[in-house]
Amino acid sequence: MATERSPTVKRLADSKLLNDAARRACRYLEDLEERPVAPAAAAVAELEHLGGALPEEGMAPSQVLALLDEAGSPATIASAGGRYFGFVTGGVLPAALAAGWLASAWDQNAFSTVSSPVGAAIESIALDWVREVLALPDDCAGAFVTGATMANFTALAAARHAVLARAGWDVEAHGLFGAPPVTVVVGEEVHATLFKIIGLLGLGRERVMTVPVDDQGRMRAEAIPELTEPAIVCAQAGNVNSGAFDPMAAICARAHGDGAWVHVDGAFGLWAAAAPAYAGLLDGVAEADSWATDPHKWLNVSYDSGIALVRDADSLRAAMSSSAAYWPTGTTREPFHYTPESSRRARGVEIWAALRSLGRRGLADLVECNCGMAARIADALRGAGHEVLNEVVLNQVLVSFGGADTTNRVVSALQEDGTCWCGPTVWKGRAAMRISVSSWATTDEDVEDSISAMLRIAAAHR
Ligand SMILES: *Cc1c(COP(=O)(O)O)cnc(C)c1O
Repeated sequence: MATERSPTVKRLADSKLLNDAARRACRYLEDLEERPVAPAAAAVAELEHLGGALPEEGMAPSQVLALLDEAGSPATIASAGGRYFGFVTGGVLPAALAAGWLASAWDQNAFSTVSSPVGAAIESIALDWVREVLALPDDCAGAFVTGATMANFTALAAARHAVLARAGWDVEAHGLFGAPPVTVVVGEEVHATLFKIIGLLGLGRERVMTVPVDDQGRMRAEAIPELTEPAIVCAQAGNVNSGAFDPMAAICARAHGDGAWVHVDGAFGLWAAAAPAYAGLLDGVAEADSWATDPHKWLNVSYDSGIALVRDADSLRAAMSSSAAYWPTGTTREPFHYTPESSRRARGVEIWAALRSLGRRGLADLVECNCGMAARIADALRGAGHEVLNEVVLNQVLVSFGGADTTNRVVSALQEDGTCWCGPTVWKGRAAMRISVSSWATTDEDVEDSISAMLRIAAAHR
């Protein structure tokens, strides 16, 4: 049947509206150079204009966009810019941003090869490239999820399946009621989100066995107790404060000797594998059984974007697979067999675009450049007499400006000053400021301006 295009269909491509969105986005990004990194309190207060009771009548899309831009843009934190050193998150790369816009217009459901042939194919390609740049086994299975929290969940669900299957227990069929107890081992410096995941998996936040760490937060492999199966050891590649790496080779040797599964939380640290100068920090990482990482951290794609990788594809599928009469059954990789979610956006597109635009060399340069900047900031702070609390092995710097009160006041004043943004933390019982250099957008000038602001504000609080 020949179909007349209805007015609704014609309105799909409202180029005036979409160009207006692009124009506003470009202006937003250009303005980031000039504006304070943290939004003004007054701008955040203005957000109330977006709320109130939902009006009975609709509003033209162009007006909706204008309202969002006028009220929303000034209330953002300038994390897409070059002087944001909070958490461990980069800014979005141009290729990833633009590809993400196009993919938003595609409006693909990356659930399956049928709902999105392009989404499924690009995920497979991105997965190949990610395994390659991270130097992980090329036959491990992967899942695209929202972040490292869900990547840890996904990988540990596969681990839970495998260690219980070896003990003769089918956890997917029978749950944990009556199952052999699973020992879960973490380092004292494990990321907070791991406990949430361990709780969600029914493994018990308080049943976890904690292994002591050294002065940089690295798990002491020799302190891992003798384990009996079933057991899972969670190692960490990149401590969120110090940037330190657990000794992977020693942990894998120790844990595998006792038949345990080794999982690596490498939310940002796994990306060090892409840079020859830093890959040595990950020695032995490919010996592990599963890995979690965050493209939305060091690969500089937009939120949300995490990846779980599992050596034994069958275990991941056993934990995640589902089927229905109206779903595809072929032999090609179906994303829904590997992830906890079903309907999803096509996250692989941005990962593909970021990797394709950087190439292997560009990714190595990004990591090395950020690490060099972190070292320069640490040197400048030390040079001015401030105490850097960690060995700066990667992109993380922890600095104390004296006592806890002084340090916290410097952090607040720096955030208020707006030149750059760094957050507070506590390291080994001492208050510190965290500086994470993770963005492609950070220039040498950003680094110099930020150092000047830190030293100026610290001097004022002496
Ligand atoms: C950031 C981080 C997480 C949590 O990642 P999300 O992307 O926020 O879910 C977990 N572990 C480590 C080591 C991290 O740095």
